[in-house]
Amino acid sequence: MTPETANPIQTELRSPKTCWSPVVRRLTPYIPGEQPKLDHLVKLNTNENPYGPSPQVLDAIRAELSDALRLYPDPNAERLKQAIADYHGIAPAQVFVGNGSDEILAHVFQALFQHPAPLLFPDITYSFYPVYCGLYGIDFVTVPLAEDFTLRVADYRRPNGGIIFANPNAPTGRLLPLADLEWLLQHNLNSAVVVDEAYIDFGGETAIPLVDRYPNLLVTQTLSKSRSLAGLRVGLAVGHPELVEALERVKNSFNSYPLDRLAIAGAVAAFADRAHFEHTRQAVIASREQLSAALTELGFAVLPSAANFVFARHPRRDAAELAARLRERHIIVRHFRQARIDQFLRITVGAPVHNAALLAALGQILAEG
Ligand SMILES: *Cc1c(COP(=O)(O)O)cnc(C)c1O
Repeated sequence: MTPETANPIQTELRSPKTCWSPVVRRLTPYIPGEQPKLDHLVKLNTNENPYGPSPQVLDAIRAELSDALRLYPDPNAERLKQAIADYHGIAPAQVFVGNGSDEILAHVFQALFQHPAPLLFPDITYSFYPVYCGLYGIDFVTVPLAEDFTLRVADYRRPNGGIIFANPNAPTGRLLPLADLEWLLQHNLNSAVVVDEAYIDFGGETAIPLVDRYPNLLVTQTLSKSRSLAGLRVGLAVGHPELVEALERVKNSFNSYPLDRLAIAGAVAAFADRAHFEHTRQAVIASREQLSAALTELGFAVLPSAANFVFARHPRRDAAELAARLRERHIIVRHFRQARIDQFLRITVGAPVHNAALLAALGQILAEG
């Protein structure tokens, strides 16, 4: 054997993609709503709060800016768990916190949904759920929502390895009454039922009080929407301490410090300032009702929304084209190229001046034909 054949010298550059693991080859990542760098945009595409966070949050973060940043944060964020427990009248052992609720959801999929039976979720819901299934190799079945996009709990009476949905649902904004959730829990005692309450503060009643009666219920929430802190990345989950323990096990096998010192300080202050929370949340709710009425006036069919966005369809105008025409006017809304909803626009409730700009632009576009 010549040295060349024993150990051939490679002459061609190989693509770094040959280093990719099989799971990476199979992934179809989530596509977040865009965050354009342009100024003067009317940005109604990612359900951010039009109002700033509580001034107390900013003060608390500023107070935390010191040489103490050389030290790691509390890996258990105990101050924050206590603040959340006090706010909801539960025990800190029932609380899990993470770097945004997206991170918590990722842990939920790995910790609670990797079972032989398929995970169930609605055909129209948060589009991150199938992405996590891809990441963790979880088998899933989508359950069609009713024609009016309500969730029929009876359709979930089948063997499953878990159930998840958003309530209010995304991107429809429709709310499932707590009585229906209880029926679902009573008929699924052997698998985790996870309710993603990212938008609950804009019009629903939280399921958190049910966790004491249903040990298989986990409720996730975020500070990104109703507490105006999308940039701080803080989410929480509430459930039986043994569900929380499952999440802690995954978290402590992944990243011990998901919440930094600034995030912990800011989030604690956010729960302390109830007045700011109430005031901004009520302002968003009032604007949503005005926006829904004005869109109806323009001929749109608007789904009833319990969230900080509306989901609307014009019977005679193509949604993708409307989104493109709005964009020409520097107004960004979200359009999903997905079966059943590709004629809808999801419009975040903005500040009154932004909602007015949107309505004026839509009025012109519709008049132009
Ligand atoms: C915004 C949103 C989240 C993610 O929230 P973060 O805490 O910002 O990660 C989760 N679920 C739904 C349905 C959302 O709309």
